[in-house]
Parts: sequence; structure tokens; C-alpha cells
Amino acid sequence: MMRGIDVRRCNAEKNYAGELVFEFAGEEELLDIPFVAFSSPVEAKLHYEILEDDSVEVRGTVSFSLKGECSRCLKMTERRFTGEAEGYFVPRGAKGAEEDYSYSNGVIDLGEFLRDAVLFAMPARLTCSDGCTAPDYKAD
Ligand SMILES: [Zn+2]
Repeated sequence: MMRGIDVRRCNAEKNYAGELVFEFAGEEELLDIPFVAFSSPVEAKLHYEILEDDSVEVRGTVSFSLKGECSRCLKMTERRFTGEAEGYFVPRGAKGAEEDYSYSNGVIDLGEFLRDAVLFAMPARLTCSDGCTAPDYKAD
């Protein structure tokens, strides 16, 4: 699903900052934990601000629930995770830093940004509690 910010329209309406709150389905391929799946949509709460040079700052959080077998004791478990999301978008062709996102035709597509934010919030494993002390099957 395309989630975006229509920068041109925001500028025309002198609407230079705002909040975006929406949900979307988490992509299963972002999840690399055996026997674990998304058990809720990803909830995004973002604040955006359009700067004078048409670059756009977006920051907020993404959160989602994961459900499946505890990576240590194999008990079924479900936990919620929240991560910070922060990005800087510059119009294509404009000078930006290497880590910036670019957008064209006056519209920001948040797809890649949201994907990165979900990946960043993704835990390396799902455990039933922080103190789960069942032996770990991976030697680490
Ligand atoms: Zn456990």
C-alpha cells in the first residue's frame, strides 16, 4: 500500500507540518525469526515538517506485535515492539546527504522509509520474557 505525503499540495495549502497516524501490514520478509509472525498491523505515528527548500523531515515511531515460539524455551509468546523512525527527504536532484531519501514529482512515498523503520525495530529473536533462561540452542 502506498503511503505518502503530497508535498506540493501541503505547500499550496500552507500546511507545512502535520501528523500522520496509520496502520499497514508488516512485510513477512522483514521477519527473520523462525516460527514467529506479525500478530498486528504495524502502527505508524509520524510527524512531518516541510522546510523552506522543500526538504521534509519525518520522525516518529512504528510499533507492532510479534507472536510465535520463544526463541529460547519454545513457549508460545506475543510481545509488542516499538522503534524510532526518522528520515530526511530531499527533492530528487537536490543536494542531500547520502543517507537521505529522495522524492520526485512533489510526492513522498514513505514505503522504503517505513520498511527501514520496521527493520530497525525488529528484534533479533522473540523471547517470552527478558529473563527467559532456558538454554539457547545457538551457541553465542
Ligand atoms: Zn521463553
